[in-house]
Amino acid sequence: MFHCLDFRRAKLADPTRLPGEARKHLAACRACQDFARKVDADDKRIAAALQVAVPEGLAERVLLRARSRRLRPAWRLMAVAATVVLSIGIGLKTWLPAAHQDYARFAIEHVLHEPEALSSHRLADPREFGTVLARFGGELQAPVGKVRYMKLCPVPGGTGWHIVLDTEHGTATLLLIPGRDRSAGSVEARLRGFAATARRAGAGWYAIVTESPQSRDAIDALMQRRVSWRI
Ligand SMILES: [Zn+2]
Ligand SMILES: [Zn+2]
Repeated sequence: MFHCLDFRRAKLADPTRLPGEARKHLAACRACQDFARKVDADDKRIAAALQVAVPEGLAERVLLRARSRRLRPAWRLMAVAATVVLSIGIGLKTWLPAAHQDYARFAIEHVLHEPEALSSHRLADPREFGTVLARFGGELQAPVGKVRYMKLCPVPGGTGWHIVLDTEHGTATLLLIPGRDRSAGSVEARLRGFAATARRAGAGWYAIVTESPQSRDAIDALMQRRVSWRI
């Protein structure tokens, strides 16, 4: 089954070369036609502003640098592009489930949609992980694992970080989901061989996804012990 989220991801990944399934979905879905028009319009604006192709991972790099140092003029233009990418992400909020009990299930579905993330290396710099976590309201007190992958992804309520960590209790996907829902607590989900916990922390929720409830609980405990969270 090809859903709206699949379409949006495919469109954002490569706006001009949609796979066959995505084109089929587009022909039948009004919401995705609107979304595609918005992406195409934003693409034209970015291209006009930059006169260059925007390299993969740029939005993340711009966001990592944006507050850590003064931007040179070229970076300022890139920051505009990153903001456009993020505003598209924020547009997803009306469409994705917003109730926090869905975060654990959403996290597993997200991992199932991006299996390549578990075997890739991308923006895997421990300092960048620390920066991202700190901006999300978590101060790293001790390492929780080796960072293998970091990417901005659409999440309920906007754009969040998708991180893959190799920890002493196995590999885990960590999603940082910004949100104003202040109700404390945690939720769990099991789906297709994955186990997830979502927990209120920092600037929203974090979700841990692993292949067993044991490693999930162990890594969730690491996230509580080794990160001091501003709630
Ligand atoms: Zn659709
Ligand atoms: Zn992702």
